[in-house]
Amino acid sequence: MANSKYEYVKSFEVEDKLMPSTWIVVRIDGRHFHQFSDEHEFEKPNDKQALELMNSCAEALLEEFKDVVFAYGVSDEYSFLFKKTSEFYQRRASKIVSILVSFFSSLYVMKWKTFFPLKELKTIPCFDARAICYPSTKIVRDYFSWRQVDCHINNQYNTCFWMLIKSGKTKREAQDILKGTQTPEKNEILFQLGINYNELPAMFRKGSCVFRDKVEEIVKYNQDGDPVKRLRTKVGTVHRDIIGDTFWREHPEILS
Ligand code: ATP
Ligand code: ATP
Ligand code: MG
Ligand code: MG
Ligand code: MG
Ligand code: MG
Repeated sequence: MANSKYEYVKSFEVEDKLMPSTWIVVRIDGRHFHQFSDEHEFEKPNDKQALELMNSCAEALLEEFKDVVFAYGVSDEYSFLFKKTSEFYQRRASKIVSILVSFFSSLYVMKWKTFFPLKELKTIPCFDARAICYPSTKIVRDYFSWRQVDCHINNQYNTCFWMLIKSGKTKREAQDILKGTQTPEKNEILFQLGINYNELPAMFRKGSCVFRDKVEEIVKYNQDGDPVKRLRTKVGTVHRDIIGDTFWREHPEILS
């Protein structure tokens, strides 16, 4: 295309390439979802459908962007991990961040009806996003441990809080009861309200992990009626501990 005298404005754009050979994490987080969850009457403390909508969007995102090798989600947030060698958009931060967050937001709107067939989407769901580079697998593991610990702490507090509310306490009273309490005291409060924390759904306690895994699939049946199986790579979601080594040892390809 011919140069115009206006071309020089392009030189004001600054380079924002992310450091090479590092893991890129893009974390998105719902904007004002405290309010959004009220407006859409999410079940408290954990609306299962809302979490499954988030998970479904994350799965679709992994289907679309092959360089994203793992994702971890809790509440209104999701973290997406790009492989170290990714050259997605030449690693330009603004491109990567804006494409992921707009793709996710559009999915959230498109999939809303599937997860909430009886609820109208009343306000516009919107997400913020950032990209962070991590230089080693140890730090990537620590990053995801940090998010999962956060999930646990918040979920334990929120479960206690909402159980106290459901037992007739005001928000103020519930806050006062929980002020300064540690895990054992919170467990005791839950126990007295008839709840065994460890029996709550794993999705609430552990959050959600999305990644590609090899699964056996029946492709056809032979003449004897026996199934013919093949290993296929599929994106799926599990609710596991990712702080310990077990999960990562079982899925070495993720951080390879
Ligand atoms: P910000 O715009 O700063 O992110 P926010 O209101 O989204 O503000 P967060 O700290 O991100 O604040 O917290 C998200 C809030 O959204 C939670 O505290 C919770 O109230 C609500 N929320 C998100 N997902 C769910 C869910 N699945 N079930 C119930 N509530 C949810
Ligand atoms: P990239 O992902 O790099 O932006 P692109 O395919 O979006 O690739 P652009 O340079 O942004 O390329 O050009 C957008 C293209 O989309 C146009 O070339 C045109 O073909 C099409 N397009 C966009 N808006 C319209 C429109 N209103 N009517 C017809 N075609 C359109
Ligand atoms: Mg935020
Ligand atoms: Mg938020
Ligand atoms: Mg949040
Ligand atoms: Mg374009």
